[in-house]
Amino acid sequence: MIPFNVPPYFGQEDEYVLQAIHNHKICGDGPFTRRCHEQLEQMTGTRKALLTTSGTSALELAAILCDVGAGDEVILPSFTFSSTANAFALRGATLVFADIRPDTMNIDPERIREAITERTKVIVPMHYAGICCDMDAINAMARERGMLVVEDAAQAVDARWKGKAAGALGDIGCYSFHETKNFSMGEGGAALLNDPRFVERAEVVREKGTDRSRFYRGQVDKYTWVDLGSSILQSEINAAYLLCQLENHEQMTAWRMARWNQYHAGLKDLQTAGKLELPAVPDGCEHNAHMYYIKCADITERTALTAFLKGRDIMAVFHYIPLHSAVAGRKYGRFHGEDRYTTRESERLLRLPMYYGLSEEDCTAVLRALHDFYQ
Ligand SMILES: *Cc1c(COP(=O)(O)O)cnc(C)c1O
Repeated sequence: MIPFNVPPYFGQEDEYVLQAIHNHKICGDGPFTRRCHEQLEQMTGTRKALLTTSGTSALELAAILCDVGAGDEVILPSFTFSSTANAFALRGATLVFADIRPDTMNIDPERIREAITERTKVIVPMHYAGICCDMDAINAMARERGMLVVEDAAQAVDARWKGKAAGALGDIGCYSFHETKNFSMGEGGAALLNDPRFVERAEVVREKGTDRSRFYRGQVDKYTWVDLGSSILQSEINAAYLLCQLENHEQMTAWRMARWNQYHAGLKDLQTAGKLELPAVPDGCEHNAHMYYIKCADITERTALTAFLKGRDIMAVFHYIPLHSAVAGRKYGRFHGEDRYTTRESERLLRLPMYYGLSEEDCTAVLRALHDFYQ
């Protein structure tokens, strides 16, 4: 069987995790957490990186830092994971879904522009498949209108836009280290605070709203409840697992890139023949091979292809049901303008097996199966 995903494991995670255990410091903010922060800051050039308990909690932390509430509007794609939306809906903000561009499945800056109102406070681009949104256009719009940009870069760790790391492009960037992502610690994430004005407050919010971080640094002589907050610190055991992967990120990304390029080259003929569509990588994007997806003619063909691949012991999966057509999406948001691409394109998309360690032979078997199906 060729699974869709295998949790990333580089090789020395065990050693690091044992060290964390033997340090007798397994809660948050120990030496492994610090090393992860330094490693992320070095990889991305961000002002401050903070590990979180998930990509979801990184987004929730960002929403708190943006101070959004009832009456504020947040513009985001409908083609994304529920967490992108929940974080802001939990603060009472209204979600405004904007359409995507069909070639990258990323939010279209022109559709953002049309959706902006007096109430718009935050724009949340999500870098689908680790291929960055047009951040020049999005940042320019935000600056012009005094809006904030929170990047959902959950899928984009180790990806770049015009040479700069995804997650370090907006005001706050959110990473996920869930086991389905390129780098993992089981459950986890990180917030990148690219604007210095968020750093101190972020340290308070993630420490249950207390100034414990300042206390540990000796800046105050007792710590107390000073702001809203939650429990967002990651454990040292998870941080140890992640550190091993961050230290070897170049090799892990190179492996995935080799498989991504193999799929891309091996499917060109089917694209040329008009059988299916392949992902586009716009100029300026250095992606991280988070995902390889194809687009079938329509949902019927996708269902048939998924079953055909399953018959060959190959697991291929689709996502997302557009948020604006979901029960909670209808309750907490609205789609701005016409849904030209979100629903139509999402129904055609199928993700192929992709993980660190996927062999060239298995990738070849997937390519052979796809060619057989389209014979
Ligand atoms: C994975 C993912 C998340 C959530 O990350 P968790 O670590 O699972 O909480 C959020 N947004 C997107 C786009 C994701 O792919």
